[in-house]
Amino acid sequence: MASEDPNLVHAPTLALKQALCYSCWDVSSNLSRCSACKRVSYCSAKCQKQDWNRNHKKICKKLVALNQQKGYIPSAGRHWDDYYVEQELEFLRSGTLNPCELGRLVGHESYCYHCYRRESQLEDGAKLNTCQGCRLTSFCPSCRQTHPSVECAVLQDITVDDKIVVNLRRRTGNSSTITFTKLPRKEHFSLSSAKDWYDYYTRLSDMGGFKSKMNRDLRCLSNDPKEREFVEYLRCGTNTTTIQLTLIAALEAIIPNVNTRGSINLHIIGAAGAESDSIPAFEELFHLLPSLITLRLAFVGLNVAENLTNDTEIQNPHILQCCAACTKMGRQISIRTWRGPYHAYIDTQFYKTPDLAAAFRSGFSVDEQADWYPTIKYLAHAPHPTLFTATRYYEIQGEMRIWKDLGAEFAKNAEVNKWKGMSPLLTVCGDKPNEVIYQNHWWYIVKQR
Ligand SMILES: [Zn+2]
Ligand SMILES: [Zn+2]
Ligand SMILES: [Zn+2]
Ligand SMILES: [Zn+2]
Ligand SMILES: [Zn+2]
Repeated sequence: MASEDPNLVHAPTLALKQALCYSCWDVSSNLSRCSACKRVSYCSAKCQKQDWNRNHKKICKKLVALNQQKGYIPSAGRHWDDYYVEQELEFLRSGTLNPCELGRLVGHESYCYHCYRRESQLEDGAKLNTCQGCRLTSFCPSCRQTHPSVECAVLQDITVDDKIVVNLRRRTGNSSTITFTKLPRKEHFSLSSAKDWYDYYTRLSDMGGFKSKMNRDLRCLSNDPKEREFVEYLRCGTNTTTIQLTLIAALEAIIPNVNTRGSINLHIIGAAGAESDSIPAFEELFHLLPSLITLRLAFVGLNVAENLTNDTEIQNPHILQCCAACTKMGRQISIRTWRGPYHAYIDTQFYKTPDLAAAFRSGFSVDEQADWYPTIKYLAHAPHPTLFTATRYYEIQGEMRIWKDLGAEFAKNAEVNKWKGMSPLLTVCGDKPNEVIYQNHWWYIVKQR
């Protein structure tokens, strides 16, 4: 929710799993839990008090109520489907369909990896233990205390990313990792000529000083802690910059000679947290497209953050500060925000047909179908192409069925996105325990009418 502290909406998964102090994100061996809800842990009474006053007093009672609604389950455990159904019910009961602090706490409540019981469902007083490798997996005392090492290794990438985010917040007060080119490129180099993120970092962007020290999967080949940290930062940054690189790839796919364009108008539909976190990286469009001088962005959607810009006057778009080189070239990024459904935005005085519209991870075939449908119906035959991304294949399948019914055609068929995020994210309601997803894994472009 827009009014919440963005740092806490983006609390590291480790903090949601009680491996870090929920308030200051400190690693401490001496964390103590909120004795009422038992869902968050703190390093000190001071941190607990601070969080209580910030928001916990509002959500603690709700978490307690959710704990009480769950009954005891014998140690034989249950099927994953039962866990899944309970999880969905929890989301409904807590009224947290949109990403918010309570929703993330509900979604990431620990459970035993083998019997799928949560702590409040164990024998009296029994506690879950944590995997010492990834710190994101739990085991009840009646079950084996291990999970597959391959899976643990994938989850450790999340742990690494969380540490990067924690250190960043400590150093800069801001926790979004952004890894785009520092200076504008003099000559054009199309993104489609790059094979993967390794190519992007080492050939297109100016952050490739680490070429010989990482492999194509952005894993560090050196033992030097500083170099390792930098490579891990580059990998973590793909989860944010995926938005801009996917946009550039889409522009290249639909506009011949996009490198000669002086201005581009983009509409980001359904924009929420991930898009607003990545705002500074929109400058990457300038850095990779040498002729571009004016970039107009409109963020439109039901969950558009009201505090996206400090400008409360919707009439005046927010102007983004670019780097010194871009500023000198007279380049400008303007951002307009509009809260409401996209199909309503087109009737406002602000609307101007965009070169491209984009909906990242809309999940329109799965979530909030009724809200999305009129917009989707419009986009099937809109006067511009629209880029869509999804994290899971079954979403793509569902979306394709809907487009087929609407008679839409494609400028690009659905396929794996070269510019998907490279760091995994833990799902809150997956098909199996410890299921991970990758940002913008799939993409396609709906053709203009
Ligand atoms: Zn603390
Ligand atoms: Zn509590
Ligand atoms: Zn168990
Ligand atoms: Zn583990
Ligand atoms: Zn710049």
